[in-house]
Amino acid sequence: MPPALPRLFAPARTVPPPVAWAGLALLIFAACLVGIFARPIGFLSAFWPANALLLGLLVRYPHLARPPAWVAAAVGYVAADLVTGSAWGMALWLNAANLLGATAGWLVLRGLDERILRLQRTVAALYLLLAALAASAVGALAGCGAAPVYFDSPWTDLLSLWFSTELMNYMLIVPVVLAAPRAADPPSHTQDTPLFWRVAPVSSLVLAEGIRTLIGGPGMLAFVVPGLLWCALSYSAFTSSLLSLVVCLWTMAGVATGVLNFTPAHAGDVFSLRVGVTLLALGPLAVACASAARAEALRRLHHAVRHDDLTGVLARRALLKQGDRLLERYQRESTGLAVMMVDVDHFKQVNDQHGHGAGDRLLVSIAQTMARALRADDVLGRMGGEEFAAVLPGVSPTEAQAIAERVRSAVERQALDATQGGPQRTTVSIGLVHSATLGADADMDTLLLAADTALYRAKAEGRNRVMVG
Ligand code: GH3
Ligand code: MG
Ligand code: MG
Repeated sequence: MPPALPRLFAPARTVPPPVAWAGLALLIFAACLVGIFARPIGFLSAFWPANALLLGLLVRYPHLARPPAWVAAAVGYVAADLVTGSAWGMALWLNAANLLGATAGWLVLRGLDERILRLQRTVAALYLLLAALAASAVGALAGCGAAPVYFDSPWTDLLSLWFSTELMNYMLIVPVVLAAPRAADPPSHTQDTPLFWRVAPVSSLVLAEGIRTLIGGPGMLAFVVPGLLWCALSYSAFTSSLLSLVVCLWTMAGVATGVLNFTPAHAGDVFSLRVGVTLLALGPLAVACASAARAEALRRLHHAVRHDDLTGVLARRALLKQGDRLLERYQRESTGLAVMMVDVDHFKQVNDQHGHGAGDRLLVSIAQTMARALRADDVLGRMGGEEFAAVLPGVSPTEAQAIAERVRSAVERQALDATQGGPQRTTVSIGLVHSATLGADADMDTLLLAADTALYRAKAEGRNRVMVG
């Protein structure tokens, strides 16, 4: 029987190699050094990215979240403190609190829907707030007892300082780690936006920054909110959370160094300032999540409209549109293109003998077999029923015939799983036509009609063959 551990840690699809743990330890070590060297900027500028980075990475890469990750992080934390001259006892206590805090946040977020964790759902901002609150509270409670022992100050001071610093760090850094682009992400469409609209939102932030330096006062904290909201509506969740991070840290540093005309008088003000700035970033974050959710829904809708829902190949209209585009391009180049119409032979019998479900499964496997037999540049679509069409760009008539023959023979040879209640074998008839044979002004309709006529001849001559029109 597996022990309790596997329930806590997601089953590792691939256990990360030792270098991943070493990388994590190094990253935490470096992040701690950044935090340690940021200290002199002032009491208010306490920037401690290590815990939020650890939480973000554990959530983003669930296969990393295994016991060695905690060991690696602990090594990174303690090493950074020791090389910068801290005592062992303090290093162990404070870093145990760091680890406990990040773990509390991880417990809140782990196992949530992937789309929430990619900030593609509106509720993501609330979950992040919840995780940040839990992580900051646990870290602060675990660490505050060190205040009377090592800093000669009341534990309540460290509790409020730790909580507010951590809340700010978690709320600003975790979204950046979670929303950072992945290699497999679809390309964003921001390149289509005119340059002016791409730079306007971020420019408005710079403008607001200038205005608030002039005006000052406690209200100036919110002057950047319109700009942050505009950025959240215009850019990806990653870019806008990165901008929130920069603006909020900039604000804290501005207040700390006296550039911004609002000097907190008491520790209570510091707490209020940090929590306030953090919560200001929550609005733009929620907007960024909602706008990413909408973009993702639109992407899926666009995909559903363009594709046949049974077989997954292009739907008729999308195929015709793409065919038109390819025809326009390849007719200008001398090679031209070929169009083939494919019809499954005696398909009605499959439905009659094995049922409609078996017919559907057969259509799916035929579509997959044809897609594999075609080249990467060829475009395959379902015209309706058991009829498919493919556009083969940049082929000579002889090459097109070889491809059509390859498709026909692949379907004939495909291994069908008869145990699921379908036929053991199936064939297709193909009508093929090349743009060169129809003249320079032939459009997609003319090519499809000619391919259809050739297909009709293939049927008439006994099926399971390619006929050239
Ligand atoms: P031929 O060799 O002459 O093409 O004969 P056939 O039986 O393939 O052609 P026919 O046009 O007589 O029948 C096509 C059948 O395809 C009739 C229709 O019920 C079936 N069909 C159309 N769309 C679907 C579908 O989405 N799923 C299933 N299972 N059957 C479909
Ligand atoms: Mg038919
Ligand atoms: Mg048929």
